[in-house]
Amino acid sequence: MFAMRKSLVFILIVFLIFFLTIFAQEQEEDREAIFAQKRQSMVVNQLQNRDIIDSKVLQAMLTVPRHQFVDERIKESAYNDYPLAIGEGQTISQPYIVALMTQLLELKGGERVLEIGTGSGYQAAVLAEIVEEVYTVEIYESLSKKSEKLIKDLGYRNIHFKIGDGYYGWEEYAPYDAIIVTCAPDYIPPQLLQQIRDDGGRIVIPVGGIWMAQTLMKIEKIRGEVKSTGIIGVRFVPMIGHSR
Ligand code: SAH
Repeated sequence: MFAMRKSLVFILIVFLIFFLTIFAQEQEEDREAIFAQKRQSMVVNQLQNRDIIDSKVLQAMLTVPRHQFVDERIKESAYNDYPLAIGEGQTISQPYIVALMTQLLELKGGERVLEIGTGSGYQAAVLAEIVEEVYTVEIYESLSKKSEKLIKDLGYRNIHFKIGDGYYGWEEYAPYDAIIVTCAPDYIPPQLLQQIRDDGGRIVIPVGGIWMAQTLMKIEKIRGEVKSTGIIGVRFVPMIGHSR
């Protein structure tokens, strides 16, 4: 009799665990579905309603789970129209700025791109959805390590991480088809200009001092000649290290 009661309790516990697991899974799936909806409206309202028309960029922004790149307590705001804190006093750019900078790189697929300022890894993931290989340099070891782990967990295999001062680029894999800089130096680091292809290489970079207005610039090298265009006024965290 006692043995029977014991096995009844055991069966009940097993059932309880089973149902609780199913319940938790469903809750998680509901939450992911809500994030997917938010992501979709972000793409329509913040990107398409402005001037983002590159279908590869729109598709990448629709795919990358931006909420995974921020802390649990701010996940709900991940798809809002503003930048978010990612630790070490750094920020992940507003979705529109990520999309605009990616669009300015004029990627066709198959390129090798260098990013300066890995931060959360979000911009790198957006690039990795479009191009062949992404190389990304971050000056804070803690941010680089955290981002590398997340990127691997999300299944990206084409993003390569380096800890160091991005002022010097990443010589080893140069020349790149394109370079994107997500922190603002006072001037364009000469090494970055050297590390893009001589014909058709491009850089998208915010330039300006800490207390000065910054301009998002697009630099292109055409048959060795450098052409630069100012795009819009922006506010990025400063590039630290050599450039200060
Ligand atoms: N692209 C990031 C946004 C990063 S914010 C994202 O999608 O989340 C800018 C980043 O540039 C910060 O992480 C900052 O630590 C980094 N940074 C600043 N100066 C740097 C330098 N000299 N070299 C490399 N990274 C730098």
